[in-house]
Amino acid sequence: LLVDISRDDHKVSRRNVSHNALKVLYRLQNSGYEAYLVGGCVRDIQLGLSPKDFDVATNATPEDVRKLFTNSRIIGRRFRIVHVNFGREVIEVTTFRGQADKGGSDQKQTSEGMLVRDNVYGSLEDDAQRRDFTINAMYYTAKDFSIKAYPQSMRDLAERKIRIIGDAETRYREDPVRMLRAIRFAAKLGFSIEEKTRQPIAKQANLLANIAPARLFDEVIKLLMNGQGLKTWQAMQQHKLDQPLFPLSCQAIKQSKTLDYDAFIAQALVNTDARVNAGKPVTPAFLYAALLWPAVREQALTNIKMGSPEMPAWHKAMGSVLSAQVKVIAIPKRFSLPMKEIWELQLRLTKRSPKRAEQLLGHPRFRAAYDFLVLREQAGEALNGLGQWWTDYQNAHPEQRAKIAANS
Ligand code: ATP
Ligand code: MG
Repeated sequence: LLVDISRDDHKVSRRNVSHNALKVLYRLQNSGYEAYLVGGCVRDIQLGLSPKDFDVATNATPEDVRKLFTNSRIIGRRFRIVHVNFGREVIEVTTFRGQADKGGSDQKQTSEGMLVRDNVYGSLEDDAQRRDFTINAMYYTAKDFSIKAYPQSMRDLAERKIRIIGDAETRYREDPVRMLRAIRFAAKLGFSIEEKTRQPIAKQANLLANIAPARLFDEVIKLLMNGQGLKTWQAMQQHKLDQPLFPLSCQAIKQSKTLDYDAFIAQALVNTDARVNAGKPVTPAFLYAALLWPAVREQALTNIKMGSPEMPAWHKAMGSVLSAQVKVIAIPKRFSLPMKEIWELQLRLTKRSPKRAEQLLGHPRFRAAYDFLVLREQAGEALNGLGQWWTDYQNAHPEQRAKIAANS
C-alpha cells in the first residue's frame, strides 16, 4: 500500500519541474481531477538527476484530458495515452490503469499471458501495482507537494535497487520489454537488480520474440545509445537478452573461429558511449551496422567458400541479414540504407587507385565507413594497415594524395 511522504521528507520541488508539466497538473487539479507526476521524473529528481521528460498520471479519462488541452492528442492503441504538446516539449498524460487480471472488455491477453490491449482504468493504488519497478511508482502531487509511494520505493532508491512490483515471471510475461527496462535502468542509474527481479530474466528472455518490431527498435536505441551502451550490452549478454534481439549475430559470434567479434562490438559501443557522453551526434545506422557485422561477414565468407565471387557474396549476405533482422527489429529505411552503404564501402575502401580514392573521399558515407574500418582494425582484424593508409591519405595535402595513391 502507498504511504505519504511529506514535502520535507523528499527532494522533489517545483523548481525541478518543467513549467509545462506544472501547468498540466494544475489544470487537471483545478478541474476536479487527481493528477500526479510519476515515473522517471520523480525518480530522477529524487536521485539528484535532471529528468528527460515528465509523465503525468490522472483519474481523468483520455477524452477528459483531451477536452482540457487544445494542444493535445490521444495516441496509442495498446495503451491509450494523451500527449499534451508545448512546442518541443511533450507531457505524457496517462489515466490510472486498472488491475491486469480483471480482463475487462478493453483488456486482452495472449495465451502466453502477454497484455496486448490494456485500457481498463482504476484507482491510484491499482495504477501503482501496474507500474514496472518500485522506484518508478512514486507520485508527486502539487496539491500538498507530497509524494505517494510504496515504503519499498524509498528504500530501493536509497539502496540503489531495481525491484519489480509483484511476481517477476508474471510481470515479464505480461510485458517482456520489462526485462530490457530492468537492465537499462540498472546500467543507466548504476543500480543493482534485486535477485527475484533478476533471476527469471535469462529463462524468459525468448519472450522478446513476441514484441512488435517497431517497439523493439525504440527500446534498443534507449538501451544502447544512452551513454552506458557497453555496460548495458554486457548485461544483456549476461541475461541472454542479446539472443532474441540479434539472433544472427549471436550465432556468428559464437561460431567464428578467426575473429573476436565480441571485441569489435564492445569497441563500437565504447566509441558510441564516448560520443554520447561528449554530446556529439550518433546515428543508429553506424551502431546497427556494427551489431550486424558479425552475421554479414560470416555469411559473406561462407558464400565465398561455396564458390561465389566476392562482390555478389557480400551483397547477398547484406540482403539476407537485413531482411531477417528487420522481422525482429524494425530498422527504418533511413537507417538501413546507410548501413548497407557503410558495409559496401568496406569493400570499396580496399581499392586505392588515385581516381577511386579521390571519389571515395567525396562519398557522403565516407567518414562513417572509414570509422568502421578503423574499428575493425582496432578489434584485431588484420587488414594490412588499410585504416592507417586512409588516415594518411586524408591528412595529406591534396597534391600529395595522388602520389600516395599511385604508390599503393
Ligand atoms: P526514462 O523516461 O528516464 O527512460 P521512465 O521510468 O520515465 O524512464 P518511461 O518509459 O517514460 O520510463 O515510462 C514512464 C513510467 O511508466 C515508468 O516510470 C513506469 O512507471 C511506467 N512504465 C513504462 N513502461 C512500463 C512497462 N512496460 N510496464 C509497466 N510500467 C511501465
Ligand atoms: Mg519518462
